[in-house]
Amino acid sequence: MRVIKAKNSGACYGVRRALDMAEAASKGVGEVHTLGELIHNPGVVAHLEQQGVHVAMSIDDIQSGTVVIRSHGVAPAVFDKLLQKGLTAIDATCPHVLRAQRSAAALAREGCHVIVVGEEGHPEVEGIKAHALDAGGTVSVVADGSDVPEGLQAPVGVVVQTTQPEAKLCSVVAALRERGVEPQVKNTICTATQMRQSEARSLATIADAMMVIGGRNSSNTTRLAEICSEQCARTYHIESAEEVEPSMLAGVEVVGITAGASTPTSQIDDVAGRIEELGGILEEDGFSEESCS
Ligand code: SF4
Repeated sequence: MRVIKAKNSGACYGVRRALDMAEAASKGVGEVHTLGELIHNPGVVAHLEQQGVHVAMSIDDIQSGTVVIRSHGVAPAVFDKLLQKGLTAIDATCPHVLRAQRSAAALAREGCHVIVVGEEGHPEVEGIKAHALDAGGTVSVVADGSDVPEGLQAPVGVVVQTTQPEAKLCSVVAALRERGVEPQVKNTICTATQMRQSEARSLATIADAMMVIGGRNSSNTTRLAEICSEQCARTYHIESAEEVEPSMLAGVEVVGITAGASTPTSQIDDVAGRIEELGGILEEDGFSEESCS
């Protein structure tokens, strides 16, 4: 049984950076908190807890120490509140998200109505929106072109939640153009998600079974599992190696492995190791889209 790992899988740059920052903070003095779970991965959150990094759902729950801001970023007011309470902030906002926040603020300062293409209520979108509002702008959050409000007047600026597909940005731009508005577009999409999805889709076409590793509460892992299921009926969304049962691999000649952007390498290695115990042979090269050509 061949075992093939997608090369573009697992923790992305921004998540790895946030984890490193939280682990480094845990080695210092005083209490360390994250504002919300640092990543949507129960194993990692439990590991951080053992290292003294506690999850707080609100600043009101934190009395002292250091607070690590997640890769999703936050509204500027959150930093003000941390400062007022005498807490130390460690900003682990992903640089790609910072770019989206700064672009939204810059568009607002130029007098644009800012459209954020993304998921209303998502913490990253809330942070981007707050940066535009703080810069004196007005903001709409739209899922795609069909959501674009009527009656918008130029100038209009568009930024994008980093994990959105480019097709949604294009549909928003097209909808604005249909209404005679030529927007200023800041394409703030990060390619990490797209590369994981595209590679997972290709790998799933040649695999008899796919293991998609990551938290069940992780939307990017869930989306990867959906994409793989479209190509490979035997797709399993698992959180840990312990979930791999021999029956999942019965009759399988090629098993593919991928993982969401919030899944650390150690969890991917554990799953690969478990499949090797069950008779798999891990291919050193892994799988990238070039492997198909
Ligand atoms: S998916 Fe991209 S933007 Fe989001 S944390 Fe990872 S690297 Fe940063």
